[in-house]
Amino acid sequence: MSNTETHPAEVRCGAGEDAAPAAGVEILTARDVPLGGPRAMTVRRTLPQRARTLIGAWCFADHYGPDEVSRSGGMDVAPHPHIGLQTVSWLFGGEIEHRDSVGSHALVRPGEVNLMTGGHGISHSEVSTPETTVLHGVQLWVALPAEHRDTAPAFQHHVPAPVALDGGGEARVFLGSLAGDTSPVGTFTPLLGAEVTLSPGATVTLDVDPGFEHGVLVDSGDVRLVGTVVRPAELAYAAPGRSTLTLANEAPGSARLVVLGGPPFPEEIVMWWNFVGRTHDEIVAARADWENESERFGRVEGYPGDRLPAPVLPNATLAPRRNPRP
Ligand code: MN
Repeated sequence: MSNTETHPAEVRCGAGEDAAPAAGVEILTARDVPLGGPRAMTVRRTLPQRARTLIGAWCFADHYGPDEVSRSGGMDVAPHPHIGLQTVSWLFGGEIEHRDSVGSHALVRPGEVNLMTGGHGISHSEVSTPETTVLHGVQLWVALPAEHRDTAPAFQHHVPAPVALDGGGEARVFLGSLAGDTSPVGTFTPLLGAEVTLSPGATVTLDVDPGFEHGVLVDSGDVRLVGTVVRPAELAYAAPGRSTLTLANEAPGSARLVVLGGPPFPEEIVMWWNFVGRTHDEIVAARADWENESERFGRVEGYPGDRLPAPVLPNATLAPRRNPRP
């Protein structure tokens, strides 16, 4: 997915958040962002935002649907570039056709993770398939650490087997380890990414790494995280220092959520449009490379249409922004 804001702000994030004792759960609400195009589908963005810009290396979280494609037009994101990050596509419903400049042509389907490494530079397009009637899922980005951010672009696909959870429910672990399962998908910092479903009335306690901070993005259900209510489309943040996360579903139906985690990201990053860098100049250079059709971003074959032009850069760079202490 592309950040389709017409005037994206340049955001500096992260740097040196100390591990601290576990405190209360913090609720992050979503803002609606139109995805763009003639019939714009809207996504609910919870990261980055003023109150919190990163959870581990997770630096971007869009949640969308269930979206009636006949009404919204579905997803049609023309070729656009990325640097310095990995994109993680995870669907609950529908199907997306992915094409990228390293030659991947893949279908993103529910329960199957597609992880694309932008590294030094990649471009891709994402289009919901004609068979898709309802589109529903999340698009997540991971910031690459300095020593790996210029890595070669790549694409990985994995179908995690569902793992039964004591207390009622199941987990699909697409990155990292949870509930006895470990994803083989490679990342450059320790990360957790999993879909968790909870049976009606279920309470589940997950063992987690106390060095990680966690986010719980609720898709559906009446979910409590460590006693705090998390409404659908909200992202709950739990600081490092917890060795368990207890999730309860008090609804008569099942609940679905996505658990994200990782150690606090120790570097300051600059995010603008679809780029994660370290300096303003680097962002300016990446934008120019895209606009000049540099080989850096390769070519996406098979997309029926033009590529996305880069938005106009802001007049001034923004002051560094940091996460509040937990
Ligand atoms: Mn994208």
